[in-house]
Order: sequence, then structure tokens, then C-alpha cells
Amino acid sequence: MTTNDGVIDGTAVAARIRATVGAGVQAFSAEHGRAPGLGTLLVGDNPASRTYVRMKHRACAEVGIESIHHVLPADASQEDVLRVTQELVADPRVDGVLVQMPLPAGLDPEPVILAVPPEKDVDGFHPFNLGSVASELPGTPSCTPAGVMTLLDTYGVELAGADAVVIGRSRTVGMPMALLLLHRNATVTVTHLLTKDLAAKTRTADVLISAAGAPGLVTADMVKPGAVVIDIGITRTPEGLRGDVDFDAVREVASLVSPVPGGVGPMTIATLLETTLRLAWDRAAR
Ligand code: NAD
Repeated sequence: MTTNDGVIDGTAVAARIRATVGAGVQAFSAEHGRAPGLGTLLVGDNPASRTYVRMKHRACAEVGIESIHHVLPADASQEDVLRVTQELVADPRVDGVLVQMPLPAGLDPEPVILAVPPEKDVDGFHPFNLGSVASELPGTPSCTPAGVMTLLDTYGVELAGADAVVIGRSRTVGMPMALLLLHRNATVTVTHLLTKDLAAKTRTADVLISAAGAPGLVTADMVKPGAVVIDIGITRTPEGLRGDVDFDAVREVASLVSPVPGGVGPMTIATLLETTLRLAWDRAAR
């Protein structure tokens, strides 16, 4: 895909993926007499989490994936969360299970992540799936970094031999992002909150990917002229959603930059749909 203005259109790329998934869902449903199913669990009433789950359900409905949704109150016990997660895993309609993170304070996400077996782990959070990504074996990578790879490929960004810098090293975003770039033979530097002189590192990047959740962190002077800049960060502020990147200024320096909203966010959801369909085919073949 090309761009005249240097702005990556994640919404348009995601729309194409959703159309392809829609056709795949029809084929699956015709062959198996049921739609692929996404099981979701929302615990508590975090407004951002509620919005994300609602957006995922809407996207599922649009392509014909069935959503099977459970809600628990913020004061749910660890046992309740585990029990409902296991119910979703056992539900024959469900091909992929997504427990919306973060869980409310006081709940431990680890046993919940482990309760979703790798073959139904649509979010790619299970250590087996992260291990598969690390080992370059087939598995399910986390949706956001996988969606970023699709964006980079769609815009023809050369990764082999490129210097890539990832800001953020979380298990679900920054770390798998770095691994996926490494598999494509980028030379990857992973940075985080304790990195010394972050700007010196980011200025080396041909491809700079920020997943910090720190609005305005990436300023124009931190970007090498002509670099590709992908903004994964999403922070809710009184002025609306903000990415990590100072978009207007960075746009003047970068060759390509992804906006917030309309960049990585729609790709995460499109990748979730793609993965649910793939898990459905895989399960039907077992
Ligand atoms: P996290 O809090 O688990 O990890 C953040 C990482 O960024 C950490 O490794 C931390 O060391 C690093 N970091 C934070 N502030 C920094 C700073 N000032 N300088 C350098 N490094 C810094 O968060 P996460 O779950 O990895 O999510 C990261 C961001 O991506 C959040 O804003 C989140 O909302 C967003 N996100 C977006 C999508 C999407 O679809 N666009 C999906 C998942 C997460």
C-alpha cells in the first residue's frame, strides 16, 4: 500500500482484513454448520476495558463470528474468574478465549492466563505461545505485535538488516514485537523505563515502535529523518485518546507514521478476528 501523506491508514488495512475474514467465516460456517466463536470475559467496570470488549463484539458480529460473553463484577473472587474462564474454554461454541486484561486489582492474571490452553489462546498470552514466538515455531502471537507486522508488510517496510528500536518490553506487546522483528532479520534494540538516554537509541532507528503508554514520549528530535514510526501506545486523557508519539511534529521528520486513533488499534481487532477464524479451522481439523 502507498501513502501520499506519510500517514499509515490502519483503519483501511484492517477493513481489508475484515473483508477477507468475513469470506473465511462464511466458508467455515458452510462447512461446519456453525460460526467460529470467540468467548470473552470482562471482569469489573473499567471503562477502557468495557469499550475494548464492546468493539471486539461489534467487529465479530460484522464478520459473522459468534461472541459468547461473560461478565463478572469487580469484586469477583479469583475462583470465580477461573471458573468462568474454564467454562468458556469448555464451551463447544468457543474457538478462542479472551479474558480482557487488566483484571481488577487483587486478582492474579497468571492462573487465568494459564487456564486458557494454547490452542484456544486467541490473545497469545499463554507462555507456550510466547515460547512458540520466541522459538519461531507455529503458534499464536499476541494480536497487537502481529497486527503491527501486517501493517509494516502492507506498506512494504524493509525489515531485513534494518535497525529497529522498540520502546516497551511487556510480555504481551513490547517483547513479542521485538521477537517478530528479529525473526525478519531486523537488528533490534529493546528499550524501557530504565533505559539510559532513550533518545540516543531511538535516533538510530530505521523502524521505531513505541509501546510505552506515555503520551508525547516520542518527540521529533528522537526520530531519524526518513524513519518509519509505529505508535502502539494508547492513553485516555481528558482531550481524548493519545499515542506515545508527538504525531504532528514527528510526521515532518518520518517517512511513515501511524496515528492514534486509526493506526495500530484497528489492526489489533482485525488480527483478533483473523486468529479466531484460524483457531476455529485448527480445532475443526483436530
Ligand atoms: P505495560 O505498562 O505493560 O508496559 C509498558 C512498557 O513501556 C514497559 O516495559 C515500560 O518499561 C515501558 N515504558 C513506560 N514508560 C516509558 C518511558 N517513559 N520511557 C521508556 N519506556 C517506557 O504496557 P503494555 O501492555 O505493553 O502496553 C503499552 C501501551 O500500548 C499502552 O499504552 C497500551 O494501552 C497500548 N496498547 C495498545 C494496543 C493497541 O491495540 N493499539 C494494544 C495493547 C496495548
